Amino acid sequence: MKAFEATNRYIRQASQIMGLGSRVESLLLSPEAEHNVTVPVELDNGELAVFTGYRIQHNSARGPMKGGLRYHPTVDADDVRALASLMTWKTAVVNIPYGGAKGGISCDPKNLSQGELERVTRKFIQRISEAIGPQRDIPAPDVNTNAQVMAWIMDEYSRLHGFAPGVVTGKPLELHGSEGREAATGRGVIYITEEYLKDTGRTLADVSVAVQGFGNVGSFAARFAHEGGARIVALSDASGAIRCAKGLDIPTLLNYGRTRTPLSTYQAEGVEHISQEELLTTEVDVLIPAALGGVFTAEVAEEVRAGVIVEGANAPTEPEADEVFARRGIPVIPDILANAGGVTVSYFEWAQNIQCLRWTEDEVNSRLKHIMTSSYATIRNLVKSRNVSWRTAAFIVGLGRVAKATVLRGI
Ligand code: NAD
Repeated sequence: MKAFEATNRYIRQASQIMGLGSRVESLLLSPEAEHNVTVPVELDNGELAVFTGYRIQHNSARGPMKGGLRYHPTVDADDVRALASLMTWKTAVVNIPYGGAKGGISCDPKNLSQGELERVTRKFIQRISEAIGPQRDIPAPDVNTNAQVMAWIMDEYSRLHGFAPGVVTGKPLELHGSEGREAATGRGVIYITEEYLKDTGRTLADVSVAVQGFGNVGSFAARFAHEGGARIVALSDASGAIRCAKGLDIPTLLNYGRTRTPLSTYQAEGVEHISQEELLTTEVDVLIPAALGGVFTAEVAEEVRAGVIVEGANAPTEPEADEVFARRGIPVIPDILANAGGVTVSYFEWAQNIQCLRWTEDEVNSRLKHIMTSSYATIRNLVKSRNVSWRTAAFIVGLGRVAKATVLRGI
C-alpha cells in the first residue's frame, strides 16, 4: 500500500470511531498545497544535474506548518504527502501551535560534495521561498539533512526576505539554534519508553533494546537508553546490523555514529553481524525502528519477538503489519507520539527565535519531558478507556484537535 493511502486509512479509522462526519473528514485527508519544483545544479565537474524537490503543506488549521526536509533517492510526492499528513497529527498530539508539512529532494547526498549539497539546498529554497516563512511553514532536519543544511536554508531565505532565523529549526547553536534540539527526538523516544515501562512496573535497567537506524534519532535513542541502564542488544545502520546478547559497547559505537563509520566494519568479541530482518526479529523487550518507513510488512510483523515497539522513525509500520501486531498483542507506540520530541524542541527553537531569547539546556529538556509525558498520559488513558490501539488513540487525539480548530475557524 502506498504511504499516503496508509496514513489516510488510519485517519478514516479514527474518524469513524469519533463520528467526525464526512464533511470534516474530507478536509483532513488532502494536503492544502503541494509545491513540486525542479532543482537544477551545476556539479563540480561542470555537468548539470536536475533534481526534483517537494514541499507539501498538509494542514494549517492550528498554526504555521512544520516538518522536516529529507534528502534521499526514495523521496517522491506520495511519500512526502504521507509524511506531511503525519506532521499535522503529530503537532496536534503534543498540542504545539503548528500544522503539518514535509519536504524533500530526490537525490543521493552520498554522491554529492559539500559544495554541491549547498548549491542544491540554496536552489531549492529559492524555488520554494514564497511558500515558506516563520509564520507560514518552517522546515527542519530529517533523513540526511542536518544543522549545516538548516544554516544554508536560513541564510538563503534571509537573503531573499530579510533576516529571519525563525524560518527553519534545527540550526547550529552558533546560528540561533536551540540547546537540546539535536538530541531531542531520540531523547523523546526514550522518555516515552520510560513512561511505558513505568506502567508495566519496570525501568530501563530491566530491559533489552534493539534499535534500527543509527543516525540522529537512533544514536541518541541508543545513548539515552544505555545511560538509563538498558542493555542494547542489537543496532543497525544502512551498511548492516550487529548483535550481542550481553549488550553492545554503546560509548564506542557512538563514535561510529558520530563519524558515520559503517557499523558493518565493527568487530568486537561476542558481536555477530546479522541482516536487517534478523535485527527486527531479535527477541527483545523494546524494539525501536529509527531508520526509514515501511520496514514492518505483514510478513516481518509475524516474526517480530518484541515486548513493545516504539516508533522512532516515521511510518515504519505498514497498516497490514499493524493488524498483525494487534492480533499478536504487541503494542506499537506510534510515530506521531513517540518521535514528537524533535518537533517539540523545534517549536522551542522557533519560540526563542521570534522572541530573541535563549533558554538553557535544562529548561529545554524539562519542558520537553513535561510535554512528552503529559501527551503519553493522554493517549494511554484513551487506550484504556476506549480499548483501542495506541495508534488509533493518538489519531483520535490529533484529529479531534485539528477538526475542532478547523470548525472554529470556519470552513
Ligand atoms: P539520519 O539520516 O540521521 O539517520 C538515518 C539512519 O538510518 C542512518 O544511520 C542510516 O544508515 C540508517 N538507514 C538508512 N537506511 C537503512 C536501512 N535500510 N536499514 C537500516 N538502517 C538504515 O535520519 P534521522 O533524522 O535519524 O531520521 C530517522 C527516522 O526518524 C526517519 O524516519 C525520520 O523521518 C524520523 N524522524 C526524524 C526526526 C529528526 O528530528 N531527525 C524527527 C522525527 C522523526
